[in-house]
Amino acid sequence: MKTIVQKFGGTSVASKNSREMVIEKILDKKNSDFKVVVVVSAMGRKESPYSTDSLIELINKSTISPRELDLLLSCGEIISAVVLSNLLNEKGYKSIVYTGYQAGIKTNDNFGCADIIDIDPTNIINSLEKNYIVIVAGFQGANKQGDITTLGRGGSDITAVALGKALKSQYVEIYTDVDGIMTADPSIVPNAKLLDNMCYSEVYQLAEDGAKVIHPKAVEIAQKCNIPIKIKNTFSKSEGTTIKSAQTISSKDVKEIENQKILTAITYKKGRVQVIIDFDSENDNTETLMEEITKNNISIDLINFFIDKKIFTIDKEDLTILKNILEKGSYKYNIIDNCCKISATGYKMHGMPGVMARIAKTLSKEGIRILQSADSHNTIWCLIDEKNTDKAIKALHDEFKLYE
Ligand code: ADP
Ligand code: MG
Repeated sequence: MKTIVQKFGGTSVASKNSREMVIEKILDKKNSDFKVVVVVSAMGRKESPYSTDSLIELINKSTISPRELDLLLSCGEIISAVVLSNLLNEKGYKSIVYTGYQAGIKTNDNFGCADIIDIDPTNIINSLEKNYIVIVAGFQGANKQGDITTLGRGGSDITAVALGKALKSQYVEIYTDVDGIMTADPSIVPNAKLLDNMCYSEVYQLAEDGAKVIHPKAVEIAQKCNIPIKIKNTFSKSEGTTIKSAQTISSKDVKEIENQKILTAITYKKGRVQVIIDFDSENDNTETLMEEITKNNISIDLINFFIDKKIFTIDKEDLTILKNILEKGSYKYNIIDNCCKISATGYKMHGMPGVMARIAKTLSKEGIRILQSADSHNTIWCLIDEKNTDKAIKALHDEFKLYE
């Protein structure tokens, strides 16, 4: 059976008009002999009545249990799926809706950020064989007990790729409101350029560093089973970005990749907090602190440990817990809130001297201070004040001529 999974994000299913565009994309594949599975996100963003954010607003987050919160949040995608299915039926196409649970998506017990552990696609396959267009509510599954779990923000991308894997689909299409993966977030850099062909590891790095356009876990699953992903725009006819393994990219595309500049893209992650802890070198209790941090499931990055100082960053959401740990242990510390981690990624950067110097000079010219930096073979990270995010990204995008 030739199947394809198409995922439509919140903006794609937000309005009657946009849903008509979605139907066009579905029928396009249906009419070219694909069995189509559609994964949808909740309708709209932020204030839209049935968006994930609006559902959260309905309750008091401090008194709801994670189980009930997930049950509530899963509703947004279910509403969206039923509305889209109804529109297809109205046009004379047979469609059927499955929640994550009904689609056979089994997860662990980690409410709010569950991992898919298995998929039993029997229901989906039966419906596809009967020629139904199958619509699956994204971002959710169920644990062993049958309790509904959610996969974390952006989780519908994971649903789509995991279903693609379970159904051995030809490829997975992720439809959103931009033409594909670009050299920077186009809502900040209007002349950002579309990246046509990318390999899994490149995209994984960008996604991990904050490029919201695809969830890193979705890329990870696709890479493991070697299923191609296409990121496309619901509102245009752009070919989008194709993501494959480096080995399967054709010689023409390889040439394109070889011609790439030192940097491929600039990404960013807001809501970071820099933590600087002073240590008495005679009485080093770093180990105890790290154990506490791990126990509380706080993820740290940009880690620089010196004899008398330990510096790292955390997500703003973990700040209250971290402060409690530091107060309880009577640590001497300093916190810089509202930071943004800027990432400059490029596979040609390795062994190329002077990239950091150019980045530092560019930011300095804009009057932006680098609070901390780190690098790997393909990425340089700089921590800056969050209010300078747009200025920094635009300046770096210009300096490295990523618009060309
Ligand atoms: P959806 O609701 O369709 O899942 P998201 O908001 O999760 O959409 O992701 C799409 C958004 O990702 C775009 O609107 C864009 O602003 C943002 N984005 C951030 N970085 C990039 C990038 N490098 N390329 C493309 N889009 C990006
Ligand atoms: Mg998304």
